[in-house]
Amino acid sequence: MLRNLLSLFRSKQTPQTPENPSPPPSGQRKKASGPRDNASRPQANGSRQAAPAPTGDAAAGRPPRRRRRRKPASAEGGGGEPQREASPQPEARSQGEAHSGAPERRPEAVEGVSGPQPRETPFGEVMVSAPVARALADVGYEAPTPIQTLVLTPMLAGRDIVGQAPTGTGKTAGFGIPLAESVDGAKPYVQAIVLVPTRELAQQVADELSRLFKYRAILTIAVYGGAPIARQIAALDAGAQVVVGTPGRVIDLLDRGPLKLDRVQTLVLDEADQMLDIGFLPDIRRILRHTPRSRQTVLFAATVPTMIRRLIYSYLKEPEWFRVGEESFPVESVRQMYCEVARRDKLDALLETLRTYDDEEQTLIFRRMQEDVDWLVRHLKQRRIPAEAIHGGLRQNERNAVMQSFRDGKLKILVSTNLTSRGIDVPAVAHVINYDTPEQIEEYVHRIGRTARMGRPGTAMTFVSEWDFESFDAIRDHVGAENLEEVQLSFYAPGHAAGTR
Ligand code: AMP
Repeated sequence: MLRNLLSLFRSKQTPQTPENPSPPPSGQRKKASGPRDNASRPQANGSRQAAPAPTGDAAAGRPPRRRRRRKPASAEGGGGEPQREASPQPEARSQGEAHSGAPERRPEAVEGVSGPQPRETPFGEVMVSAPVARALADVGYEAPTPIQTLVLTPMLAGRDIVGQAPTGTGKTAGFGIPLAESVDGAKPYVQAIVLVPTRELAQQVADELSRLFKYRAILTIAVYGGAPIARQIAALDAGAQVVVGTPGRVIDLLDRGPLKLDRVQTLVLDEADQMLDIGFLPDIRRILRHTPRSRQTVLFAATVPTMIRRLIYSYLKEPEWFRVGEESFPVESVRQMYCEVARRDKLDALLETLRTYDDEEQTLIFRRMQEDVDWLVRHLKQRRIPAEAIHGGLRQNERNAVMQSFRDGKLKILVSTNLTSRGIDVPAVAHVINYDTPEQIEEYVHRIGRTARMGRPGTAMTFVSEWDFESFDAIRDHVGAENLEEVQLSFYAPGHAAGTR
C-alpha cells in the first residue's frame, strides 16, 4: 500500500512555500519506491531555486517518495539557525534567568499535622497515616498503581530503589506517599530533594507532592531557572522541607548558600536518563556530594544505559530494582496510526486529521525545531484554529502560561518540541500528532506516551514524509507493523479533484 501511493498524484500544482521548499538532492533511496522527484533542486550554494514546471509524475501534489536520511535544516521559518530541540534545553544558570520573572510556588502557610503519624489505613498492601489517606481520597487514588505497589513498601522501609518505569505510571506518588509519611513538618530544614530534568516537570511534581502533603504540615517548593531566585531563597528561608528542582538551579542555590542539603534523608532522581541526556551528570554528582551518605536514594528512569548504571553503583546502597511494563514500548491503549504525506502537504494532512477529532479533546503536536513549532502555530491561527506553542526558546513566564492553560483544558491544541515529550502528564490529552517523524524509537515512545495516560484511550498519528522512511521503518520494526494502522489522506485518493480540499 505504501508503495502504491507513490503512483497517485494530485493534479493541482502546489506552490513553493516555506512549508513546501524544494527538496534537497534525493540521493540513494533505501528502498526504491518510484522515480526520483525532479521537481526542484537546491543550488550548489545552498540557496533554493524555483521549481521548474513539473511534467508527468513530477507534477506537484503527491504522497512522499523515499529520501535518503539527510534532512534539510528546517522546513519553515526562514532566517537564522533553527533551534534544534532533540531533548529539552538544559537549565540555564541564574545570570540568564533573572529577568524572566516566572510565577512560582509561594511559601504559603502550610496546614495539617506535623511529625510522624501512626499508619493505620490500608492503601493496597501498605498502611498509610490518616492525613495521607485523606489526601489520597481527595485526589481519588483508590488503590496503588503497579509501580506504587512495588516501591511503597521498600521506600517506606528506607531502602534505596531503582524504578524502571515509563512515565504516566504513577511514580510521583510512588515516592510522594513515603515522603508524606517521613518528612517532619515541625523541622524547618530540607529533608527531601527531588531532581528533575525540566522546569515543567519540577512544577508538575511539586504540585502532585503538595496534593499528597495536603494534610501534613510540609512546605514543598519548586526551584528552577527562569523564575526569580529571590523568592525561592525566601521559601527556603521560610523552612521548606521538600525541594523539587532542576539541577542547574539547585547548584546555584547551593553555591549562594540558602540551600542546605546536609540533613536530607531522601534524594530522588526522577527521569534520571533524561537528566543525563541533557548533560546534568556533573551537577547531579555535585548535589549528591552535598547530601549525607546515610540518605535514602531513589532513582527512576525509563531506560538504564551504562551511565545510569555507573551512577547507581556509585551512589545507591544495595538498591531494590523494579521494572514496570516494557519501558520502551507504547502502552496498549494508544491507537497508533500513520499516514504517508509529502512534506509540502503536511499542513493539509494536519487540518484533515484535526477535523476527525472531537473539538473538546486536547491534542499535542510535536515538531523538531523551535521555529517550525512557531511556523505551524502561526498557520493554524491564520485558519482560526486556536493553538499555542511551547519550546525552550520562549521565556519562562510564557512557557508557564501556555502549560497552565493546557493543563486547565482551556487550550485545546499545543504545538511543542520534544520539551514536553517526557514526563509531562496532562491526562486529558487524547491525541498526539507527530507532525515531524521522531528520529529515534525512544523519542516516538515518549511522545506518544503523552496520551492514553493511566489506561485512558488515546490516538497517536505520525506523518511520514519523503525524508522519514528510514526513521519510520525503525519505529515500525520496533513497535510491530501489526500495531500501526495506515490512514489514507482523502486528497491522495484516486480521482480526488484538484482544489477540492
Ligand atoms: P505520574 O507517572 O506520577 O506522572 O502519574 C501519572 C498519573 O497517574 C497522574 O495523573 C496521577 O495523578 C495519576 N495517579 C498516580 N497514582 C494514582 C493512583 N494510585 N490511582 C489513580 N491515579 C493515579
